[in-house]
Amino acid sequence: MSGALVVFSGGQDSTTCLFWAKKHFDEVHALSFFYGQKHSRELDAARAIAKEAGVPLDVQDVSFISRIGRSSLTDPSMPMDREKPQDSFPNTFVPGRNMFFLGIAAVCAREKGIRNIVTGVSQTDFSGYPDCRDTFIRSMNVTLNLAMEEQFVLHTPLMWLDKAATWEMADSLGVFDLVRTRTVTCYNGVEGDGCGECPSCRLRRRGLEEYLERKNRASRPEGDVSHA
Ligand code: ZN
Repeated sequence: MSGALVVFSGGQDSTTCLFWAKKHFDEVHALSFFYGQKHSRELDAARAIAKEAGVPLDVQDVSFISRIGRSSLTDPSMPMDREKPQDSFPNTFVPGRNMFFLGIAAVCAREKGIRNIVTGVSQTDFSGYPDCRDTFIRSMNVTLNLAMEEQFVLHTPLMWLDKAATWEMADSLGVFDLVRTRTVTCYNGVEGDGCGECPSCRLRRRGLEEYLERKNRASRPEGDVSHA
């Protein structure tokens, strides 16, 4: 029996990964983190979605992350970057977050006898966070194996997908509506379509519009240009 542990935030990407894992593995566990994020609404969403998916969820408190590094996602006094700075990443970056998450996930997976770890990071993410890149994940995979003398496999089903393709994957997994209405991706903690204003909501909406437009075009009969 093959098992997988999904690093799960209750957002669009990791929820899609949760259902991807359910399709590919016999036994799926989810792990969420409280890292000092300003909005605990996303953890509520994670709990509700995991319950509905029939996946056991563990929540670890790693709020020390917000005390040792600064990010506008954890520091209420820091105004959030609305655009990506030209030569850097936005201050919504949480330094070390994915490194800590994956390290802890690997320890938890090992305790359960699981070697597959799934994370929803994507290199095509517009923010350009360094700990979402393929190079980092590969390096971390090697490091985790060396650290615990294990054969972990880090799975990143969304690594090369843009947001439209991520919506498409959710749809093909039969969870389009669940992802659309129940997840919290918004940096302001608003469920579903979110606040509509923050960078995360704008990215999510652009991908959704692109996907729905593509889907509508594909479902139109050949030669029908009435809606073109
Ligand atoms: Zn938002």
